[in-house]
Amino acid sequence: MTKKICEQCQAEKELELFHKVTNQYTALHPMGICKECYKSNNEERKRRQAQEWEARTAGRRARDEAYKQAGQRWLPSTEGNPTEVSNHAWIYALRQQGSYPVKTERSGKWLIFLSAETIDRYWQKVKAAVEQGQLGAQAKVSTLSKGSMPPEVRRKKEERGDTRFVICVYTYDHEDKGDVMRIREVLRDLGIRRPIRYKADADTHAGSYGNDYHPMYEA
Ligand SMILES: [Zn+2]
Repeated sequence: MTKKICEQCQAEKELELFHKVTNQYTALHPMGICKECYKSNNEERKRRQAQEWEARTAGRRARDEAYKQAGQRWLPSTEGNPTEVSNHAWIYALRQQGSYPVKTERSGKWLIFLSAETIDRYWQKVKAAVEQGQLGAQAKVSTLSKGSMPPEVRRKKEERGDTRFVICVYTYDHEDKGDVMRIREVLRDLGIRRPIRYKADADTHAGSYGNDYHPMYEA
């Protein structure tokens, strides 16, 4: 019983030539397809996802350019709940009262990861606080759309079984620690008590999505 037939290529191979995966629901077990098939499926998927991401980025650029030529600006979507929206990558909240400093090249955000069960409720609270001028200039939340992160990052997240949504609460300058922490405290008052991390926008632009960055603050 050390051999097994690959469900994909139908070849009979040693058990160790089958991929072993763990996830949160089942114990370690060899998959039904061999490592070779697994690898080629992955490469194919990566290729496809990279193409989709490029097409989406090109689409965004074309859209911005079309608006610019028409003398208009694309307006971010601000309506709906994250668990219901799938036609926009992000939903935004924009400050409507009071003033806040213009963002610098040292801008950044507090990241709040929440489950599908709680995200809508917290997003509505954060959105209202931004609009009423209690936080910074803006915040955004990911949606059901696949457009909110590069395909590789999304794939790893899905493989971890991570289905959380993320709220980004922006601040104009991470060197203004007083402002960064003031915003953290407002979030605490909204019910976000677990430690959260602050990430510089420069890290995101450098392609460092996911968890491979050094949080500037954690509180
Ligand atoms: Zn195979």
